[in-house]
Amino acid sequence: MCRHVGYLGPPVGLDELLLRPSHGLLEQTWAPNDMRLGGTINVDGFGVGWYRADRAEPSRYRAVGPMWADENFAALAPEVSAETLVGAIRSATRSTSAERTACAPFRAGRWLFSHNGSVPGWPDALAELAEKLDPVRLLASEAPVDSATVWALLSHRLFEGQSPADAVRDTLVEVVRAVPDARMNMLLSDGNLLIATTWTHSLSVCRTDRAVVIASEPFELPAVARDQRDGSVREESSWHAVPDGHLVVADREETSLTPLPDIELRDS
Ligand code: GLN
Repeated sequence: MCRHVGYLGPPVGLDELLLRPSHGLLEQTWAPNDMRLGGTINVDGFGVGWYRADRAEPSRYRAVGPMWADENFAALAPEVSAETLVGAIRSATRSTSAERTACAPFRAGRWLFSHNGSVPGWPDALAELAEKLDPVRLLASEAPVDSATVWALLSHRLFEGQSPADAVRDTLVEVVRAVPDARMNMLLSDGNLLIATTWTHSLSVCRTDRAVVIASEPFELPAVARDQRDGSVREESSWHAVPDGHLVVADREETSLTPLPDIELRDS
């Protein structure tokens, strides 16, 4: 299954966060540690979106194929730094195609979104839910992949004005009610917040006194994100695995973990 990472902290180079670290997203392309329920490598494309202080909407780079093979990204990454970013590498779900538009992060307005998981039976399984969506936005959801339909459902809630944490939770609930074996690790950012879910896939959080990082798999933090005092990572600010069935909300100050309503869902 795909891997993703969200970062909030001091400006970090895309290469420092994604390419250089031991077990960073680049390494997870060919050697992920915790792929569950199918999939062994993440070579069907990748993407990164980042926020600039002078622009409301995030910038984005996406490409089909493995991250290691993209010379343009290798050249671009050291030139770009950001205080907030979302990165993703893709292992395409069966019956979806490997194309650039199917690679996370998906984007609308100031939002960036990534989905690690699958919705079996897509698209038919989500057809009823999608009926409420504005057809223009649905068409603009751009890609022939289950994650793009999930993004259309979630962004509909965001643009209706629902709070981001509620919108993420309610989207997960409606998708899992419709498709009980859906796998729904999601990651959302607006530049100031990271919101993530665990629903059958791995996720870890690391908060230092300078940064917070949420990632499918722990990796070596870049120096700029480590604790200020000694440049190390203190015990309390090392990586923590997020238990399954949780919603994570992190801003620059704090992280909260809330259980998702899994029991009613899984029993119903
Ligand atoms: N279903 C999504 C896709 O096909 C995500 C896949 C994954 O998590 N491996 O891109």
